[in-house]
Amino acid sequence: MTELVGGIEAGGTKFVCAIGAGPDDIRAEVRFPTTTPAETIDRVVAFFRRQEEHHGRPAAIGVGAFGPIDPNPASPTFGYITATPKPGWSNFDLAGRLGEALGVPLGFDTDVNVAALGEWRWGAGRGLGNFIYLTVGTGIGGGALIDGRPLHGLVHPEMGHVLVRHDRTADPYPGRCPYHGDCLEGLASGPAIGERWGQPADELPPDHPAWGLEADYLSQALHDYICAISPERIILGGGVMEQSHLFPMIRQRVRESLNGYIQAASILRKIKDYIVPPELGNKAGIVGAFVQAQRLIDDK
Ligand code: ADP
Ligand code: ZN
Repeated sequence: MTELVGGIEAGGTKFVCAIGAGPDDIRAEVRFPTTTPAETIDRVVAFFRRQEEHHGRPAAIGVGAFGPIDPNPASPTFGYITATPKPGWSNFDLAGRLGEALGVPLGFDTDVNVAALGEWRWGAGRGLGNFIYLTVGTGIGGGALIDGRPLHGLVHPEMGHVLVRHDRTADPYPGRCPYHGDCLEGLASGPAIGERWGQPADELPPDHPAWGLEADYLSQALHDYICAISPERIILGGGVMEQSHLFPMIRQRVRESLNGYIQAASILRKIKDYIVPPELGNKAGIVGAFVQAQRLIDDK
């Protein structure tokens, strides 16, 4: 990949815009808080206009967006942020408005599918056709590449909202998902950990019982993803996974709960290479948007 492309990481808290060709070739980058749609779009457009003087107009721009979104190009609401509690953003035509304002072809997908593309090209998903990228942070979201393509389907996967066994005697915390209460995100997101224990997740010591419980919920979800999708690897990122001691706990629980049923060396003997942290850290999203833009050009 040599051609310069654009990337937009459209997050619920912040936006990142960049021009470049890869993780070691980011020519310009800006980040700013997500405010109103109008103000945010203006800032995106201002960034790309400024870059035109130095780098010309990129041939395409990839967008990884917070969701839920409509990623189906055949749908009348393609490119919309659909239902979000974020004021002003519900039913907002993000891809349409950006496309109009920027005047270049735009890729559009979930933030996690786009991050998966980044890890596929330059990170922990290199060489794999089928894998999952899960982020455990303010929310929990999963993207997947299936035969090399981001998985959509009816809408797009919502891996954070799967149901896990919740023993209310051991863990009376009711969960905080506004739709499901104690779905995975309701029980195991960063804010859920903080609320349950009355202390921010990043301040809890490594020997705190929070982490055993966290590993339990995450490993249940991973068990289900493995059975349903048969990924060749699972990448776990996001702020909560900065607690690197979670990895061995999750690997052990996944292996125990699958109980030898999935006959694959990756799980039986090499699970350390199967459930892994991202290699690109917080760059996965923005460089994934480059990959998406590049694919748009190549598919033409
Ligand atoms: P976002 O999901 O907003 O994109 P992050 O993935 O950084 O951003 O997630 C932020 C959440 O992750 C916060 O709720 C915080 O509780 C949690 N978090 C951030 N850093 C850590 C850490 N080092 N250990 C545990 N939890 C963390
Ligand atoms: Zn939910």
